[in-house]
Amino acid sequence: MATIKASCPCCGDVELTPAQVRLVVCSVADWSYYAFTCDQCSDEVRKPAGSEVVNLLKTGGVKVERWTVPAEALESHDGPLIDYDDVLDFALWLEQAVNPVAALTALRPGRAARVAR
Ligand SMILES: [Zn+2]
Repeated sequence: MATIKASCPCCGDVELTPAQVRLVVCSVADWSYYAFTCDQCSDEVRKPAGSEVVNLLKTGGVKVERWTVPAEALESHDGPLIDYDDVLDFALWLEQAVNPVAALTALRPGRAARVAR
């Protein structure tokens, strides 16, 4: 069985088995990471995993977990932030709305039509 050498920020160098390492490869390459629980201090250590580290860990027998970030999470948004008053106003509007789906359809006709099918 391969031995994987890593380092804990508190304890220094540690040796791990492939089963002790969690490798998460993200659709956004910069968000890929590997993690392990240090045997000595019990802290979870998490570090970024570039393509070279990913390949080394895979070669060492570490199983890969795939993480696909939804496209919505990567969208940039303009405009003011939603605050507590906005949420409260929306809750009050929902209480008196007779047909909220119809109101949403009026706002985003293409979207609502697809959802309604
Ligand atoms: Zn440690």
